[in-house]
Amino acid sequence: MHASPTISLHDALANAIGADRVSADPTIADAHAADWSDAPRCAPSLVILPRTPEEVARALAVLARYGQPVAVQGGLTGLAGAATPQAGEVALSLARLNAIEAFDTTGGTVTVQAGVVLEQLQTQVEAEGWFFPLDLGARGSCQLGGNAATNAGGNRVVRFGTMRERILGLEVALPDGTVLSMLNRVTKNTTGIDLKQLFIGSEGLLGVITRLVLKLEPKPAAAQTALCALGSFDAAARLLKALRMRLPGLSSFELMWDDFLAAACEVARLKSPFSTRYPIYALVETLGDADDDAQRALESALGDMLETGVIDDVVVAQSIEQAKQLWAARESVGELLAATRPHAAFDVGVPMDEMEHCVATLRARLRERFPEQRHLFFGHLGDGNLHVLSGPFAGEAALLEVEALVYEAVRDAGGCISAEHGIGVVKRAFIGLTRSEAELDLMRKIKSVIDPASILNGGRVIP
Ligand code: FAD
Repeated sequence: MHASPTISLHDALANAIGADRVSADPTIADAHAADWSDAPRCAPSLVILPRTPEEVARALAVLARYGQPVAVQGGLTGLAGAATPQAGEVALSLARLNAIEAFDTTGGTVTVQAGVVLEQLQTQVEAEGWFFPLDLGARGSCQLGGNAATNAGGNRVVRFGTMRERILGLEVALPDGTVLSMLNRVTKNTTGIDLKQLFIGSEGLLGVITRLVLKLEPKPAAAQTALCALGSFDAAARLLKALRMRLPGLSSFELMWDDFLAAACEVARLKSPFSTRYPIYALVETLGDADDDAQRALESALGDMLETGVIDDVVVAQSIEQAKQLWAARESVGELLAATRPHAAFDVGVPMDEMEHCVATLRARLRERFPEQRHLFFGHLGDGNLHVLSGPFAGEAALLEVEALVYEAVRDAGGCISAEHGIGVVKRAFIGLTRSEAELDLMRKIKSVIDPASILNGGRVIP
C-alpha cells in the first residue's frame, strides 16, 4: 500500500529534483516514446531528466512513494524494446548525466556518469594515449550505462571481451532510492558477492546505473584491416583459428554472408571490393604497433591462407581511408535495419560447431516460409554471435512466427536467443526456450526482493 500523496507526481518530482528536470511536454515525450526496436511506441506521461546521480536516487524514491512504474532510458539505441515505455509508465532518462568525472591516466581507469555516450568516451581517452575498446555501430548515441545494462558486445569482443569485462566498479540507485556505491578501482577484489554483476546485462530490471569505473587499454598506434572472400563457413572457421594463433593483436573477425554484403552495398551505395561474388566474407582487424611489422604480419598470414586455399581472395587496406571503406558495409546495419522495417532482428548465440548447420537450416526454412522477405546473415564470428535480419513483415502474427522459427532452431543447436541485445519485450515470450524454469524462477525472486512493487522496467525480460 502506498501513502496517498497529497500533491501530484509531477510536483513531487519537481520539489525533489527541480522543476526543469521534469517535463510533461508532448514533444519531449514523443522523443522518449521508443528505442530502436519495433516494439510499439508509447509516449510517457512524464520525462524525468536528472542531472546528477543523487537526483536519480531522489527521483526513484519519489516514484517508489507514488508506486509509479518507470522505463529507464539511456541512448535509446536498444533493439529489444526494454527502454520503450509501456502504458502508464513515466520515463527516466540518463541523458544529462554526461560527465567524465575522473581519469587515472597512470593506471588507465576512468570514472564516468552513466549518460556519457560511448563515442565521447572513446575520443576523450584516446587524446591521452588510452583506448576504450568496446565498439558498436550505435557508438554515437548509446550510453555507457545502457552498454552496461545490456552487457553490450560489438566488434572487438574476440580480443577485449564484452562490456562486463570493462567494468571495475558501478554505482547503482535501487528502485527505493537506496544508492549502492560500488566504485571499485582495483582489478582484484574478493570481498563477498560481487553485486555489480547483478546489474550488468539485466536490462534495468534491478536498479539504475548512475556511475561506472571502466578499465582502459593502452591506445594502439595503428589498425590493420582486411576483407577476405571465402568459399564456405568451414573456411571462415579455419581462418579464424589460424589468425588467432598467428596474430595476437586480432581484434575483430566479422562475418558477412553474400546476401548481407549485397544488401549493405545497395543500401549504403557502396561498391563491393571484389569483382566476383563469394559465399562468405570475413572482415579482419588487428590493433597494434604503427611500424610496418603488424601490417606485414597480417599480410603474411593472409598470403599463406591464400596459398593454402583457405581464402579465395583478399583486400588489405593500405590507408585509414581504405580501412573505413572496408568497414562501411558492416557498419551499414543501422540503414539496413531502417530499410527493412517492420523487421525481426536476431542476435542469437550459436556454438561454433553448430553454426554452419544452423545457418543452412535457418536460411532454407526462412526462404521456404517467407519467400517475399529478405533474410540477411552476418555476425561476430569470434564470439559465436550470429545476426539475422528478416523483413519487412506485414503483421504481428508473421513476426511471432518468424521469431519462433529462428529461436527453436537456435535452441536445437544448443545456443541462446540473445547474445548481446537482450530480451526486453520483443524476446520475452521466448526466453524459456534457452533458460530453464528454475533459472527464471530465481530471476523472479531476485527481482521481487530488490523491486517488490515492480516499478522499474516492469513487464520486461521475465515472463
Ligand atoms: P537504451 O536503448 O536506452 O536501453 C537499453 C536497456 O538498458 C534498457 O533495458 C534500459 O532500460 C537499460 N538502461 C539504459 N541505461 C540504463 C542505466 N543507466 N541503468 C539501468 N538500465 C539502463 N549492441 C551490441 O551489443 N552490439 C552491437 O554490435 C550493436 N550494434 C548496434 C548497431 C546499431 C545500429 C544499433 C541501433 C544498435 C546496436 N546494438 C548493439 C544495440 C544497442 O546499441 C546496445 O544494446 C546499447 O548497449 C544500448 O545502449 P543505450 O544507451 O542506447 O540503451
